[in-house]
Amino acid sequence: MDQVILKKGRAKPALQKHPWIFSGAVARVVGEPDDGDLVELRDAGGNLIGHGLLNRHSQIVVRLVNWERDQVPDTAFWRGRLKRALAGRAALAADTSTDAFRLVFAEADGLPGLIVDRYGDYLAVQFLVLGMERLKEEIADLLMELAAPRGIWERSDAPARAKEGLSPTTGLLRGYPPPRRLEVVENGRRFLVDLAAGQKTGFYLDQRANRGRVSTYCAGHTVLDAFCYSGGFAVYAARAGAGPITLLDSSGDALALAAENLHLNGRDSAADTFLTADVFQQLRHFRAAGRRFEVIVLDPPKFAHTQADIPRAARGYKDINLLAMQLLSPGGILATFSCSGLVSADLFQKIVFGASVDAGRDVQVLERLSQGPDHPVLLTFPESEYLKGLICRVW
Ligand code: SAH
Repeated sequence: MDQVILKKGRAKPALQKHPWIFSGAVARVVGEPDDGDLVELRDAGGNLIGHGLLNRHSQIVVRLVNWERDQVPDTAFWRGRLKRALAGRAALAADTSTDAFRLVFAEADGLPGLIVDRYGDYLAVQFLVLGMERLKEEIADLLMELAAPRGIWERSDAPARAKEGLSPTTGLLRGYPPPRRLEVVENGRRFLVDLAAGQKTGFYLDQRANRGRVSTYCAGHTVLDAFCYSGGFAVYAARAGAGPITLLDSSGDALALAAENLHLNGRDSAADTFLTADVFQQLRHFRAAGRRFEVIVLDPPKFAHTQADIPRAARGYKDINLLAMQLLSPGGILATFSCSGLVSADLFQKIVFGASVDAGRDVQVLERLSQGPDHPVLLTFPESEYLKGLICRVW
């Protein structure tokens, strides 16, 4: 097998099982591997560290998949990895009140660049790195064998593919195509999911537990679900007996789906409001109009994609959090999230602190939230920790 040799003194992260080898750590490539091939990773002295997927056109030249000298990854190896990922979700799979969850969370499950989400009888998959893209047919066959879905729908249209030199691909991979409005259940709440045209793979599965936590503060209260997408938080709030709910998103399609989802859960939305607008602007309009809410959810998209984005992302988070605090009546609840992995939980709390000072409000942290257990954080890969949230009381 062809080899990637590291520079002297650059083996430590790989030996500690961090899966990413950056171009700056590589001394040379031995042989003539194609990008996407499996290669051996060796230290400067020629000692084998493990095997990984090569892509010289990415900043991450090798993504390690194992650290065993005598085990060259083959079909049995990939089957084992997938089986382990499925075994890790056994409790979720057995829970009849939920049938939508993440089966494979990429590097955190030892499967770089592979996302597999289960939605009822269907799987939605993303192949985000070249080496995994090359294994697509094999992985699809293994998923049919191990998860026995009615169909597998590919959603490899994430922007991350461009960094790997891959163009977007979507469509049916195996079995039957999912219906355009597939009904799933999450903690007993019903949702319509559009696997083909929805955002990401159709639903934000990482917020499952957090929707439940936030809903416990909603009974009888006015709620603003900002960045609501298909109404995840709003549906839980409705089922918890919330007062009038205002749903806000820049996507009209998302709001239409959110309205259907509320209806599906028995909500008479006569007193609810659906606003297609930019959150930054709309919160300012609300402030100018003297509007008040008792619960506000802020679940924005990723603001920081690179290190260079962090200062601008921090300003964005501070802006919306400050505005939300100003809109909350005394004793109101702010549930605020960041899914930017580059913004640490510590930095996020500092940003929210800064907003509280500028707003002149006393803010208590009641709960700290994270991504669901189907999005595990692999200790050797801290990058897998990305979602953080704070439930705060704002006086
Ligand atoms: N809370 C949702 C997930 C939110 S994802 C849930 O529980 O499912 C982020 C959402 O923000 C997307 O629906 C996207 O359309 C919306 N969005 C992105 N930028 C926005 C902006 N500036 N103003 C309003 N909505 C925005």
